[in-house]
Amino acid sequence: MAEVVLKQITKAFQSQNAVKGLDLVVPDGSFTVLVGPSGCGKSTTLRMIAGLEEATSGEILIGEQPVTHLPPGKRDVAMVFQNYALYPTMSVYDNIAYGLRNRGYSKKECQQRVGEIAEVVGLTPYLTRKPAQLSGGQRQRVALARAMVKKPQVFLMDEPLSNLDAKLRNQMRVELTSLHKQLGSTFIYVTHDQVEAMTMGDQIVVMNEGQIMQVAAPMELYLEPENLFVAQFIGSPPMNIIPADGDGQEQWGFRPEKAHLCHADAVSASTLDELLLPGRIHSREILGSDALYHVETKKGRIVVKTAVDTLMDSGTPVMVTVPRSSLYVFDRTTGRRVR
Ligand code: ATP
Repeated sequence: MAEVVLKQITKAFQSQNAVKGLDLVVPDGSFTVLVGPSGCGKSTTLRMIAGLEEATSGEILIGEQPVTHLPPGKRDVAMVFQNYALYPTMSVYDNIAYGLRNRGYSKKECQQRVGEIAEVVGLTPYLTRKPAQLSGGQRQRVALARAMVKKPQVFLMDEPLSNLDAKLRNQMRVELTSLHKQLGSTFIYVTHDQVEAMTMGDQIVVMNEGQIMQVAAPMELYLEPENLFVAQFIGSPPMNIIPADGDGQEQWGFRPEKAHLCHADAVSASTLDELLLPGRIHSREILGSDALYHVETKKGRIVVKTAVDTLMDSGTPVMVTVPRSSLYVFDRTTGRRVR
């Protein structure tokens, strides 16, 4: 079992709390993603699990063992960093074998283990090369292989794809998720990119200002955000938030793809099931099959995502229609979702 449990984990740097009393269960074998804006404490949390940073208070358990005060080498975890941290003068083979030699494995055992792992990550033809002779994606695979060779219970990854170009990043996302299935180990992955989180994670932990905002499966986060922060962080473009009708204690939210747009003079009779927002097109972005319209309304600027069939120009008077069943309701003061 390699469940990872954090109990009331806090980290203070000088007098500032970077991580504030986190309680989290990372299930055995899950692909858990910590996601949030820059500075929210996700890397610090991962580094505390790795043992690279000591928690100021609280407890960490890995596979039911308390590890809070153990050094990194005693935790049965392996970390993959953003910059790969490869040894430039060593061959790919030696980079992968390094950790095994340090642990006293024989030459034959090293050859066997490195050979197996190189096969899994597709590096067999490159074992004699130096890191400088590899592409970014291949270097990333060496970094992964170096972590895998230790057969850890838990893999910890801090933005491992951020140095790759967009195409390679997509490819490596797919490779990492299939590697996770193949290994069956627990993965904890840090990213600031909500798309990466949504596509890779089976459990997503959304963080903000050192605290957990919500823990859920990807679609649950999207469909059932518990608060304004999650509603606006997950989904691209973000959820529209407008003041609700009434006493001002509530805010309404709706996803850009749930709203409909038509010419102001083409509106037929409205129903009680719909919210109508008259406005004027401020600008548009054509994404290919879809277009984003930025519409100025009395309740502020909103974004509507529609299929590109009839294009409307800036300045056009329009009516935005939102089915009331697609409205989320948030408490204005606390940000908590009410409905
Ligand atoms: P990013 O996506 O930018 O890496 P993050 O969510 O991973 O951000 P952390 O690196 O965990 O954020 O940092 C959380 C907070 O702790 C930040 O305000 C940061 O400035 C602070 N911090 C991190 N490491 C240290 C340190 N060694 N000394 C002082 N403050 C630190």
